Amino acid sequence: MQVGYSPEDEDFRSEMRAWFEEHYPRFRQDWPYPFDLNDLRLRRAWEDHVSRSGWAGLDWPVPYGGKDWPITRLAIFHEEQARIGAPLGVNIIGHGILAPTLIHFASEQQKRRYLPGILSNREIWCQGYSEPSAGSDLASLTTRADNTGDHYLLNGRKIWTSFAHIADYCFVLARTDPAAARHRGISFLLVDMKSSGVRVEPIRQITGEADFNELVFENVRVPLDARLGEENGGWRLAMSAANFERGTYFIPRQVRFARELDSLRELAAGISDKGHPALANPHLRRSLARLSVDSHLLKLKSWRALTQALRGGPPGPEGAATKLQWSESHQRLLNTAIDVLGERALPGSREGVGPDASPWVRDYLWSRAETILAGTSEVQRNIIAEQVLGMPKN
Ligand SMILES: Cc1cc2nc3c(=O)[nH]c(=O)nc-3n(C[C@H](O)[C@H](O)[C@H](O)COP(=O)(O)OP(=O)(O)OC[C@H]3O[C@@H](n4cnc5c(N)ncnc54)[C@H](O)[C@@H]3O)c2cc1C
Repeated sequence: MQVGYSPEDEDFRSEMRAWFEEHYPRFRQDWPYPFDLNDLRLRRAWEDHVSRSGWAGLDWPVPYGGKDWPITRLAIFHEEQARIGAPLGVNIIGHGILAPTLIHFASEQQKRRYLPGILSNREIWCQGYSEPSAGSDLASLTTRADNTGDHYLLNGRKIWTSFAHIADYCFVLARTDPAAARHRGISFLLVDMKSSGVRVEPIRQITGEADFNELVFENVRVPLDARLGEENGGWRLAMSAANFERGTYFIPRQVRFARELDSLRELAAGISDKGHPALANPHLRRSLARLSVDSHLLKLKSWRALTQALRGGPPGPEGAATKLQWSESHQRLLNTAIDVLGERALPGSREGVGPDASPWVRDYLWSRAETILAGTSEVQRNIIAEQVLGMPKN
């Protein structure tokens, strides 16, 4: 495993850090609305700025507008972005999941058609996999795409589709051969969200935000050349895309995690519990020690994912361990923050007294989703057992 970065990579880090330090404070200062890192307008605007400045597609091949840099530079870019506290983008599905899938599997014509929109951030993507009766068991999906000879006619219902309400395109898994074995009759379609018959119904989350949706397709015409890969060959592409999602996609999370752990220590240092500093509490100290170990493990796992990526080829199932570790550690971190805040975390309680609890409470509530999205913790454990450790299916 490659541990750490080369001197050349560290030079690149200095360049990146200087760029973020120049641009991000200015962006913050010029933002015309209340500064909320979860505001999708803000996330989009920052992502647009980054793309316009030429920092998108760093690891893409040059003919598609990329720089063909090693994946370590992409990781450093994300680490520095996380370090300065800039928001995640809204086209993370386009950049992190679809683009690598297109680069590996699309026809030349499809690469030329779809990659520039992602690179410039002009076209936002969402992922239409889950259905009301097909989540972990995705192969039981029932959305149908009937090949009429001229186009596909798409009918069905997707759910939990993040960013569908702002997306221009959606990559959709649909059944194209209902008679074939479950995994064999599925195709991977690139659907224009402006097509007639596409309906988006937002779903409000426990945080009050509504950044995922129910998505209905009623006789939506999808051109035949908007199918990625072979007809009925979509399952293999979906599994590769999932490995991209779990592989390098979670690398920058370790930097955000380390940053949040620092903030949690600061929070605990500034709060007193029945007249004693919260940090003197042995239970809290044990939790913080455990979180430090989690933070270190996440860093090691991200180095392992990087090493894997540097060897070339699409990432394998090992990314399941990174996703599992990150999502469960992050919940532990936010549970600890709520313990530290105590009654200050309750709505309306001791308003104006002590630290501002609301960002912690929002993140605590949101983190409930993290052990579900991109495959639940149980599913990640199954992947590790069966595909990494080679254990039997039962
Ligand atoms: C915030 C958020 C964003 C999301 N964004 C998207 C998106 O953009 N696009 C998209 O397509 N989907 C998205 N999803 C959906 C997500 O992928 C599914 O919720 C997830 O795959 C689980 O499916 P499910 O909700 O149907 O639960 P189920 O599959 O019904 O699972 C219910 C419970 O049973 C357990 N379980 C199921 N099968 C097994 C098994 N074989 N072994 C052990 N335990 C098992 C699960 O772990 C879980 O605890 C998102 C979800 C969330 C929370």
